[in-house]
Amino acid sequence: MKITDILKKKKTFSFEFFPPKDEKGLEELSTTIRELSALNPDFVSVTDSDRGSSKYRHLALSKVIKDKTGLNPMLHLTCVNNTRKEITSALENAEELGIENILALRGDMGNFENPGNSDFSRAEDLVRIIGRTGRFCVGVAGHPEKHPEAATLQEDVENLKRKTDLGGEFIITQLFFDNEAFFAYRDLIRAEGITVPLVAGIMPVTNLKNFERLLLKTGAIRIPKSLREIMENHKNDKEAFLKESLAFSAGQCLELLKNGVEAIHFFTFNKSAAAKTIFKELLQARKEPGF
Ligand code: FAD
Repeated sequence: MKITDILKKKKTFSFEFFPPKDEKGLEELSTTIRELSALNPDFVSVTDSDRGSSKYRHLALSKVIKDKTGLNPMLHLTCVNNTRKEITSALENAEELGIENILALRGDMGNFENPGNSDFSRAEDLVRIIGRTGRFCVGVAGHPEKHPEAATLQEDVENLKRKTDLGGEFIITQLFFDNEAFFAYRDLIRAEGITVPLVAGIMPVTNLKNFERLLLKTGAIRIPKSLREIMENHKNDKEAFLKESLAFSAGQCLELLKNGVEAIHFFTFNKSAAAKTIFKELLQARKEPGF
């Protein structure tokens, strides 16, 4: 089912996975998918981050997810590391597999030794090509605190507008922790005339070291005082850190939902525990009046 059609009916929850690199990773992902599918996500997404002979593993993983769990997989497709021919072939395969949703991305340069092996350099190029097939519901990425390469947030939003004008039907944001930054971004894009659904990208912080590495890729992301304190107070106590950090994420999601956010997409890093804990809180809150 197309994500835009699901969004017309309800608030959505979804999970992002990446194709595992080895046998151990595959086992872990199988468990994660089994556990998270029990939460009935509205869709799941599979990242495009491989190269060489393993570059189509995201298609293979999407097929397995679809066939084995009945979940609705969205395929990520990047300009980086994909030629026009490879994009065309991926789209043909996706259609054959019954994939209906594609997230069109420029791609992380850092994922590849030689990102030069590409015929396209902007996500908008992919949006155009995917749109021409008339087969898929196309999503695009948004960056509430500005893409690191953009000179200003305004300029970045103008580039986002071009992606939606060309056929981007929904936006999934980069991770953020400061809801005020997200709300300001929502106001800004609406004022620019971008009307498509905005899906909030949420990353529960489970590991401080990985988190610091990730921030190098995403650029400056504001960390609210409360999260900063959790990091400081529990930097030597993994268990206490995790408990407090997940409580922060659950609180962040609740505030978003109470303020009209229509969809939440969790970056799971192929692990289920954090998403399960947060979900429990959200389901509990759903029963409260006014939610
Ligand atoms: P673009 O929209 O192409 O923008 C990139 C930069 O170019 C921005 O600064 C933008 O303002 C600027 N720009 C765009 N168009 C123009 C123009 N016409 N003229 C001048 N400047 C312009 N990466 C992966 O490698 N694999 C994945 O699977 C993946 N999944 C992701 C999922 C989500 C939800 C998000 C938010 C990101 C994901 N990424 C992934 C990372 C993403 O590819 C990077 O953030 C990348 O650096 C930017 O991607 P984009 O699609 O926003 O690029």
